[in-house]
Amino acid sequence: MFDYNAPQDLLKDRVILITGAGDGIGRACALSCAAHGATVVLIGKTPGKLEAVYDEIEAAGYPQPALCPLNLETALEKDYNDLAEQLFETFGKLDGLVHNAAVLGPRTLLDQVKAESWLQVMQVNVNAPFLLTKAMMPLLRAATDASVVLLSSSVGRKGRAYWGPYAVSKFAVEGLMQVLADEQDGTSAIRVNSLNPGATRTAMRAAAYPGEPPETNPEPADIMPAFLYLLGPDSKGTNGQALDAQ
Ligand code: NDP
Repeated sequence: MFDYNAPQDLLKDRVILITGAGDGIGRACALSCAAHGATVVLIGKTPGKLEAVYDEIEAAGYPQPALCPLNLETALEKDYNDLAEQLFETFGKLDGLVHNAAVLGPRTLLDQVKAESWLQVMQVNVNAPFLLTKAMMPLLRAATDASVVLLSSSVGRKGRAYWGPYAVSKFAVEGLMQVLADEQDGTSAIRVNSLNPGATRTAMRAAAYPGEPPETNPEPADIMPAFLYLLGPDSKGTNGQALDAQ
């Protein structure tokens, strides 16, 4: 596991947006960031799941989160710009941007993948992080040392048979990270890195490996040290890296 002990107030006064914050790794990330003092902006598809995370954060007495249901499959550039405008009015900056939401899509031979499934996976896993990052750049620039984290996968670093558009989308995520990181290098205080969570006990993992006993893998909460490291000031200067949470 990534070796990092986060102080309790690590993310005090930081505003951190997390996509797919209603479930799995994104939910754990939202709770962990809030527990370490951040104001979290919860983005996701299912309002009920986001509301449950919101309530959990409020009940724990952490900083009041912001809740923004948004379907990344259908959202248009204007929706991202409207969100950026709202966040600018409310917070004036964004210290952390975690591109966590993703879909697995069909796992089959590439020549069996339906065109519409390919496009859906690319829309959620690649186009949405691009559009969201683009809209958030002015807010990220307004922060002292902003951190962008893109969730990757081992199949986004080495291709594997039957992993279809998901694997290709994660290669694109690595590319997005590298280009953006290189552009920010020396020109802004924004750092950009990718993080492979490794096998983690979530609905996506269960869908990908239906025969695997869930307890084989760590819980989302167990892999949070790497997220906290990347989102807090201790990772200043870490830019353009492809990291592993386990
Ligand atoms: P889950 O499937 O458990 O959660 C995915 C999250 O993304 C959910 O909150 C879901 O919202 C959200 N989401 C999906 N589609 C959309 C959409 N169209 N609009 C908005 N939100 C959406 O996945 P994990 O937590 O396992 O995965 C998190 C990240 O980690 C992903 O990027 C994944 O690729 C990566 N990863 C995970 C691994 C694992 O072992 N779990 C291994 C390697 C990488 P809702 O629930 O409302 O649909």
